[in-house]
Amino acid sequence: MELLSPTPVPTEARDAKAAAREFANEHVRPRAQEFDASGAFPHEIVREAQAAGLAGSYVPAEHGGAGWTLADRLGVIEEWFRADGGIGLSLQLVDFGAKVLMMAGSPEQKAEWLPPVGDGDVITGLAATEPAGGSDLAGMTTTARREGDEYVLDGEKYWTSNGAVADWIVVYAQTGEPGHDGYSLFVVPTDTDGYEAEPITDKMGLRASQQARVQLSGVRVPHDRDLYDAPVADKQTVRHRLVEMREQFEAARALTWQACEHVMAGEDAPFWASLAKSHATRTAEEIAATATQLHGGEGLREENRINRVYRDAKYPPVYEGANAVQRDLAYGHWPDQ
Ligand SMILES: Cc1cc2nc3c(=O)[nH]c(=O)nc-3n(C[C@H](O)[C@H](O)[C@H](O)COP(=O)(O)OP(=O)(O)OC[C@H]3O[C@@H](n4cnc5c(N)ncnc54)[C@H](O)[C@@H]3O)c2cc1C
Repeated sequence: MELLSPTPVPTEARDAKAAAREFANEHVRPRAQEFDASGAFPHEIVREAQAAGLAGSYVPAEHGGAGWTLADRLGVIEEWFRADGGIGLSLQLVDFGAKVLMMAGSPEQKAEWLPPVGDGDVITGLAATEPAGGSDLAGMTTTARREGDEYVLDGEKYWTSNGAVADWIVVYAQTGEPGHDGYSLFVVPTDTDGYEAEPITDKMGLRASQQARVQLSGVRVPHDRDLYDAPVADKQTVRHRLVEMREQFEAARALTWQACEHVMAGEDAPFWASLAKSHATRTAEEIAATATQLHGGEGLREENRINRVYRDAKYPPVYEGANAVQRDLAYGHWPDQ
């Protein structure tokens, strides 16, 4: 079945999409499993895509790029992700920092930093997220202080895509009072003294895209999982979700024990056992998914317990009689009254 038909793609964007599909079929899809297994950054594929004019091509023609439109970009990204999410994200983020620079940079900055991206010579990145949270940009603590003609950046960034492989990244840092207006963006070449990046390993998915923990000037930001200045659980929507999860859990547990009673008493055992199995295992899967979401990026790392719970919870709805089969069984053994 053709899921990515060209129908919604504007005519002028179809050539780029077709070229990306051909490239992805030849270079990305055949190596997807290899890179998922190794978690390595696909340097060679990125270089080939850059040489083919398919990565970093969003840079305007006046700065040496292919001047892709948003439709060009979207059509191409569809093809990257159709072939493989991890390698696709690596290809998509080659010009991540350049995009911000295109929006917010001065003419001089654009003239200096964009042409190498358009030429396919460099990889960029963007560092906003920090260990204490990524959802609220106004909560960032990385600072940039003025010293003579220079700014000095201190802080720690987290989950920075390309942080360990980029030539330069754009860093969000605090230059004024905390709040959305008190922040500025800085282009930081990754070979600058004081820049250190350590790749994040053991991700659950998108392994061929590399994220890093980035230290600026070596000053450490305390790492806990408090969200800004309040724990995540202080948010009302999060509190409600936690209560909903508890409701789901207690209901599933009550049904399971009720089924236990029926089975032990020999009363409509197949019906009650099937009901309990399908409901409790589905509940576990749903709760694990919500809990993983609430952990943010941390939930997507294999070393964290919630990640293992999420992966493990996928199995019970399948084994010991898949839930669809259990429901058929329950229907077939419906109690008389
Ligand atoms: C593969 C990958 C690539 C990434 N690349 C980059 C990158 O290149 N640059 C970069 O800067 N970052 C990057 N990130 C980080 C990403 O942007 C953050 O993970 C994201 O912003 C969420 O931040 P967090 O993980 O700190 O979760 P948190 O901000 O701690 O949020 C955790 C959970 O709390 C809840 N929550 C948060 N705020 C609220 C609220 N106001 N109200 C109600 N509920 C709330 C939500 O359920 C949320 O899922 C990347 C992450 C991944 C996984």
